[in-house]
Order: sequence, then structure tokens, then C-alpha cells
Amino acid sequence: MSIETLHTIAEARARVLQWQREGLKVALTPTMGNLHSGHASLVQLGLQHADRVIASVFVNPTQFGPNEDFDRYPRTLKADEDLLASVGCHAVFAPSAVEMYPDFASGKTNTLLIEPGPIAAELCGEFRPGHFAGVATVVAKLFNIMPADVAVFGEKDFQQLFVIRQLVRELNFPIKIIGAPTVREANGLAKSSRNQYLSAEEREQAGLIYQCLQSMREHCQAGRASSEIESTVHARLSERGFKPDYATVRDAHSLASLQAGSTHAVALIAARLGRARLIDNLSFALHA
Ligand code: AMP
Repeated sequence: MSIETLHTIAEARARVLQWQREGLKVALTPTMGNLHSGHASLVQLGLQHADRVIASVFVNPTQFGPNEDFDRYPRTLKADEDLLASVGCHAVFAPSAVEMYPDFASGKTNTLLIEPGPIAAELCGEFRPGHFAGVATVVAKLFNIMPADVAVFGEKDFQQLFVIRQLVRELNFPIKIIGAPTVREANGLAKSSRNQYLSAEEREQAGLIYQCLQSMREHCQAGRASSEIESTVHARLSERGFKPDYATVRDAHSLASLQAGSTHAVALIAARLGRARLIDNLSFALHA
């Protein structure tokens, strides 16, 4: 099956509106490209909820900090088109930075940014200032460009999914958000475009993150205090060569600290290993 690649905002909007005029339901799956089977699973989930799926491939400059990997982030559009076509995706929107941000060439992006509020300063936001404002802004732009019926995002980026649900609720976007389960390597490492910054040995080592998440779940369900769980995991990761940004257990619904009345929790880890910053999480019920 072939896929249609659209490079301009006008073409992408026209394609979505045309499908909808034909009575077809449309799903959108935003990505930054360098696609793997985790992204493919989002398309497959989109196909269960809609008649047409459009993916976007755009490395969004506004969500990268000045010393982050914007320039070296892998850009592999041809391979991405092939993977998307192989799982039945109908179209891909692959704009240039100038198409999305007309003054990009002179170093400018948006003047107006959507600020998600206090949640954007926590967890990943504490270590990546401005990141979630960049995400919220580009996702709002994509929703305006492609007014799809549903949009699929991975639970792997748990805090991002939280911010996007808040964006849709608070700014009244008429779009249904669907969360997709995390696709993992055999050793538990969550698939990520950034895994290619790891050596073969580091990839093996990185399976420890999922093991830590599982033990956080076990100890949390057994009633151990969050602070104890967090310091144990911090130490375990540090001993094995990781530089943890955070390892924490939160309420899965609010992302606040666990309360006596919490019913679902999420264990979240962000840690650097070699040249990569890896994030992962595991959510679970507290009282079986
Ligand atoms: P990215 O290209 O990394 O910005 O990710 C694009 C979308 O794919 C986001 O909604 C991610 O949460 C999702 N995603 C990334 N990795 C995975 C994975 N291993 N499993 C499921 N979804 C993923």
C-alpha cells in the first residue's frame, strides 16, 4: 500500500476535511519521526477508531532546550513513510520547520506559546524547562491544521499525555484523545528513537529501568512509603551507571503525590545513560 506525503499545511488540512466531507472518521498520530514499532502500534490503534489515519512527522524545535539534541535528532522520512505504509497509514504530514514556524530561518518560532501551568515545571519539566509549553503549542497547531476526530498518543510519555488531555479539556478541542500502551524490547526497554544513542551494551543495561518500575509497583502495592521506594531506586540506578533525573511514584489521575484516597498510581523514571536520556513509566491499581 502506498502512502501520500503532504508537506504543506494547506494540503494536510484539505485532505482531512475532504475525508470528513466523505463521511469518514479521521485519526491523527503526531510523531517526531525515526519511527519504530511503538509508533506503528499508534497507527494500528488509530485504525481501530477511525476510517483514515494521518501521521505527522515533525521534529518540533520549540520542545527542545538550547543544549538538547534538536540538531542530531535522527531524520529518516523515507524509512518512516515505508513503515507507516506497511501498517496501513493513509497519509503523512511532513512539514519543514519554516512551514510550521514561518520566521524559523531568522531564529524565531511562535510568539504565542501555550503554557500548561504548574505540571509543566514538574518531573521532566523540571529538567527540561519550556519543554511542555513547546509540546502543547505544537500539538495545538497540529490539531488546528488537521481537525481530526481522534488523536493517538503513547502512554510511554505519560506526562505529555497528561498535558495533552489537559490542553484538549481546557481549550475545548473537539478531538478525542486515545492513549496507547508502551511497546518494549525483549529486555523491557521501552522502544524510543533515542535508544539509538545507546551502544549495544548500554541497550542491554537499560532494561534495568523497567525492572526498577516493576519493583516500584510491587513495593508500592505492598504499602511501602514512596520516599523509601524512590531512594532505593535512585541508588540502584546510580550504582549501575545511570544518572537519574527522577524516580518517583505519583497518583496516576492527577500526577500529584500519592494520597490516602489514591486508587491508581504510576511509577515514573527519567535517567541518563551514556548519550541518551531515557524515560519510562508503569501505571497500576493500588488496591486489588
Ligand atoms: P515521538 O516520535 O518520540 O515524539 O513519539 C511520538 C508518539 O509515539 C508519542 O505519542 C509517543 O508517546 C509515542 N511512542 C513513543 N515510543 C513509544 C513506544 N515505545 N510505545 C508506544 N508509543 C510510543
